[in-house]
Amino acid sequence: QGVKRTVLVTGSSSGIGLAIARRFAELGYDVAVNSFEPEEDVGEALASVSAVASGAVRYFRADLADPVQSFELVGAVIAEFGRLDVLVNNAGIQKVAPVEDFPPADWDRILAVSLDSAFHTIRAAVPGMVERGWGRIINIASAHGLRASPFKSAYVATKHGVVGLTKTVALELAEKGVTANAICPGYVWTPLVARQVADQARIHGLSEEQVVREIFLGPQPTKAFVQPEEIAELAAYLSGDMARSITGTTISIDGGWTAK
Ligand code: NAD
Repeated sequence: QGVKRTVLVTGSSSGIGLAIARRFAELGYDVAVNSFEPEEDVGEALASVSAVASGAVRYFRADLADPVQSFELVGAVIAEFGRLDVLVNNAGIQKVAPVEDFPPADWDRILAVSLDSAFHTIRAAVPGMVERGWGRIINIASAHGLRASPFKSAYVATKHGVVGLTKTVALELAEKGVTANAICPGYVWTPLVARQVADQARIHGLSEEQVVREIFLGPQPTKAFVQPEEIAELAAYLSGDMARSITGTTISIDGGWTAK
């Protein structure tokens, strides 16, 4: 690579984002870890990134439900590391409820944390990437960016929106050395999924074991959860120079879900 590259992974104190931060740390990047939590609450996550890092690891607290904090997060990372080469928009939240009962505040927050924040981090990151003629924008969408499931109106709308944003940005930057892609995972066993079990059981009238078997693994032909490390490896590949022609696309990593 020559120069040391830097990465910002939003929502990287847990789950998929944490696995991505760890992989980039292993590869020698300077890594910006983010969450809305105070730094003292993410000590274990940060330590697990630092343990495998050869570059710098820094924590940037920002609540991505807030457009100003989303935009300023990128500026803070650039102020610390001097540049931002790879932007991974990963932060995301979920709420499961029938559309007529869906709390409007949850609708707003889900869109703000995943879709609006990606817009704001991208608009903050693009000028530096274009100036250097190199950049990678990786948005963690979902199989729900390509397919719907009942009771997830806000999440499915958000993830379809993220896919649309990704394609548009890719076209705008196609001649600038900057790619933009959306990774679309199927079910990955993380706290986000574990927290849905009780609500899904209630709404569908199933036991918690049935939720895991029928609701989560039902759509996934492999009948196995994707591992966070698999998503991380794909993000690392997309960040390499050999992925320069992959842009404006969705990459499914979903055990065959969207083949159906
Ligand atoms: P997770 O709950 O384990 O982690 C979410 C991360 O986002 C945490 O670090 C959390 O602190 C952070 N976050 C939440 N709200 C935030 C806010 N307001 N500001 C800043 N950070 C915030 O979830 P996960 O399963 O690792 O999900 C990561 C991404 O992957 C999400 O965008 C999710 O939609 C997507 N995804 C997950 C799955 C899955 O099955 N787990 C499948 C497809 C896509």
